[in-house]
Amino acid sequence: VLGSAGVFYYITQKERHPGQQLPHDPEKKTIVILGSGWGATSLLKTLDTTDYNVVVISPKNYFLFTPLLPSVAVGTLSPKSILQPTRYLTRHKKRAVTVIEAEAKEVDPINKTVTFEDDSEIKGAVSHTTIPYDYCVYAVGAEVQTFGIPGVQEKACFMKELTDAESMQRRFKDCIETAAFPGQNPSEIDRLLHIVVVGGGPTGVEVSEIHDFLEDDLKSWYPELAGRVRISLVEALPSVLPMFSKQLIDYTESTFKESKIDVLTKTMVKEVKDGSVILQMPDKSITEVPCGMVVWAGGNKGRKITQDLMANFPEVQNNKRGLTVDDHLRMAGADGIFAIGDCTSTSYAPTAQVASQQGAYLARVFAQLAKKGNLEKRLISLSQTISTASGEEKAQIANDIESAKSQISKVKIRPFHYSHQGSLAYIGSDKAIADLPFANGNIASGGVATYLFWRSAYLSTLFSLRNRVLVANDWIITKIFGR
Ligand code: NAD
Repeated sequence: VLGSAGVFYYITQKERHPGQQLPHDPEKKTIVILGSGWGATSLLKTLDTTDYNVVVISPKNYFLFTPLLPSVAVGTLSPKSILQPTRYLTRHKKRAVTVIEAEAKEVDPINKTVTFEDDSEIKGAVSHTTIPYDYCVYAVGAEVQTFGIPGVQEKACFMKELTDAESMQRRFKDCIETAAFPGQNPSEIDRLLHIVVVGGGPTGVEVSEIHDFLEDDLKSWYPELAGRVRISLVEALPSVLPMFSKQLIDYTESTFKESKIDVLTKTMVKEVKDGSVILQMPDKSITEVPCGMVVWAGGNKGRKITQDLMANFPEVQNNKRGLTVDDHLRMAGADGIFAIGDCTSTSYAPTAQVASQQGAYLARVFAQLAKKGNLEKRLISLSQTISTASGEEKAQIANDIESAKSQISKVKIRPFHYSHQGSLAYIGSDKAIADLPFANGNIASGGVATYLFWRSAYLSTLFSLRNRVLVANDWIITKIFGR
């Protein structure tokens, strides 16, 4: 399978080359896409660039398959396997796409410009500029919400970016090696080997995959420490995974219990200190719990650039959860801005699934807009030529005008409709849970078969064959040789 995938990959690589792409055309409209996450990448994947100049601006020049980030943190997958360079995707486009690694600092919805800055460590003579857009696709996502809780920003590990997964892995290994240091006292070993995960949403639950590493690998490498590692999952609400059915919540909690992961519900983290975490227990008492590492998965909030953009339209953009959009994903109040993904506030949960469907929808919208634009141009040119035409030619042009008008009236842009394909989460110990919508209601399933389904679903959701091969390969290698 890998051999034939390799041949296929080689052929598709050879087939097109950026040098053969059409250049940018000043006559065409410019779409500036901000972001390279789920929404932006899904749009780029299917966007026909023939009729547009496309510019992508993002601080990362790659797409990160976030659902598998915890697997990188625990060493099951290598970082390369879950990232896809944005240029890898755009090299297939008919017209060249400009990819700029920079952080957008301001969107001016009145003058229709985007200002961005090079945020890499090495700066050139120019590191700040402004470009105009006809359409802006605002897909900047969200950032980690710390609620201003002391110590979280500085002392906890996050699970949002590749660097977070890498620093969590480093921190975890440090804790183990320090615990294994000769003469380390028993209470210090217990502290170092206590991992506190904050947040019982899907991110926090999936981070508990760290338990797999403890079970599969630590036992043989550090037999003297393996039995002493503890994981606590702290959640402020009465249960973990509120978006899943009661049955799956119970299944997750009982699986965690078997795996000796302590689930502390109705418990709030109040502070993260250097070697401990301060908890407010269900009875409102305050406890200091020693730990070696805190992983923060407490949810997301809008970015500053999003708040600044909203401030331009205080009357229509007043939802704290994010940008308000209409049913065609147009930002309320602004002309030419579409907003998708976690930076918006819609009736759907801010998931990868919603963002990628929104991206694919926008690709269809742009195709329709281009078709309409081309027909309108044709109509103008026909209307100009008809005045100088005569006889049969005139009748023919009149026919063409009627046909163009009728085709324009048929270009209808339908509103965005989200189709929920279900929710999946890996809960460790080769088990996953799935809440799948069916005609007669949701089907909830959990266990090893669901885990195989989870694996195949994630493999097929990966955006490229290259990533599929790399992830499948890593899974096999981990199974044979360990992490
Ligand atoms: P979330 O907002 O879903 O969960 C965060 C949790 O942290 C909440 O339950 C909150 O009560 C808790 N929390 C916050 N502050 C706390 C504190 N001080 N002490 C204790 N608990 C605290 O965040 P998420 O898990 O990062 O998910 C974000 C979005 O991404 C969601 O829409 C989710 O559905 C989606 N997502 C989905 C998957 C999946 O489907 N497998 C995986 C990851 C993320």
